[in-house]
Amino acid sequence: MANNRPFLSPRLRRTISVLTAALIGLGSIDAMAAEPAKQIFGKVTLPSEGAPSPIGFYAKGCMAGAVAIPTDGPTWQAMRLSRNRRWGNPAMIQLLERFSQDAAGLGWGSGILIGDISQPRGGPMLTGHASHQIGLDADIWFTPKPAQPLTAQQREDMPFTSMLDKSKFLTVSNQRWTPTHARLVMQAASYPQVERVFVNPAIKKKLCDTWTGDRSLLGKVRPVYGHDEHFHIRIHCPEGAPGCKPQAPVAAGDGCDKSLAWWFTKEPWATPKKDPNAKPVKPKFTTLADLPKACSAVLAAPANSEAAATYGTAYTAPAANTPSIEAVINASAEQAASDLPVPVPTPRPLD
Ligand SMILES: [Zn+2]
Repeated sequence: MANNRPFLSPRLRRTISVLTAALIGLGSIDAMAAEPAKQIFGKVTLPSEGAPSPIGFYAKGCMAGAVAIPTDGPTWQAMRLSRNRRWGNPAMIQLLERFSQDAAGLGWGSGILIGDISQPRGGPMLTGHASHQIGLDADIWFTPKPAQPLTAQQREDMPFTSMLDKSKFLTVSNQRWTPTHARLVMQAASYPQVERVFVNPAIKKKLCDTWTGDRSLLGKVRPVYGHDEHFHIRIHCPEGAPGCKPQAPVAAGDGCDKSLAWWFTKEPWATPKKDPNAKPVKPKFTTLADLPKACSAVLAAPANSEAAATYGTAYTAPAANTPSIEAVINASAEQAASDLPVPVPTPRPLD
């Protein structure tokens, strides 16, 4: 038999390509042009220095000058810490702190469990979400923070709990869903800076059927696939962020109409029909060229340290002409379209 073994073993070739990638690093924008943007942003471990700035759209953009929510606060814990997605615009982080206090006040355990916000410099992600790219989206678990704080390992391993009765079509479980769940979602929708709240269609329907409070806020609560074990809070572009592309406002009304009824038809759940004559198309992935130009500069910018960029952490003054995190947070607090008091920052635990 002819021996056509390749000159290099697959393992050696893999090693060489990894080494090459390491040599290229993040310095060469050219080398990154053909790479999926999610690979590039997914590798970045720290935010860029400088003023916070959401760039582009929720589902196509990136973020400069992110801050992280501390892993633990009096009324929150961040989950799945290994994913390193605790980063957001200061306006988002500030809202989450406020919301966590209000949630505890509603009787939602001892506060909230926070899922993904964004990667350190935002951008597309290797797993999960289409949005969450500009630091203005955050996921909240439909599981309250227990009185006994979760360890880091428990935060990796704890399973999600669906609010649906999976034995039925698109139906909320009456064993799991409580009036406090409803109040929690509507509390999130009540903040003026919140633009939309995404929940499963079954949850939206439950709210439509049962909510006796301000119905005008229901319009912000949008039905979407998934979102049965967590819900998703999206805030408006902060003021003074010209690079941030706003989303079209939600239609007037409570949304308990035919747009919701559509979800209870077969259409959204049918598998798309394949055209047998269609040519196979190469899967298209987002590259840096598809994102706003400023996102390449965000990738190339010097990194801020995690300690300096964690909200409420004691830190040493950053280098001249970089705004301090306090200045950034104060500026953002002034921008927040709300008269809510600024939450008390909490020190970041050392472990
Ligand atoms: Zn989400």
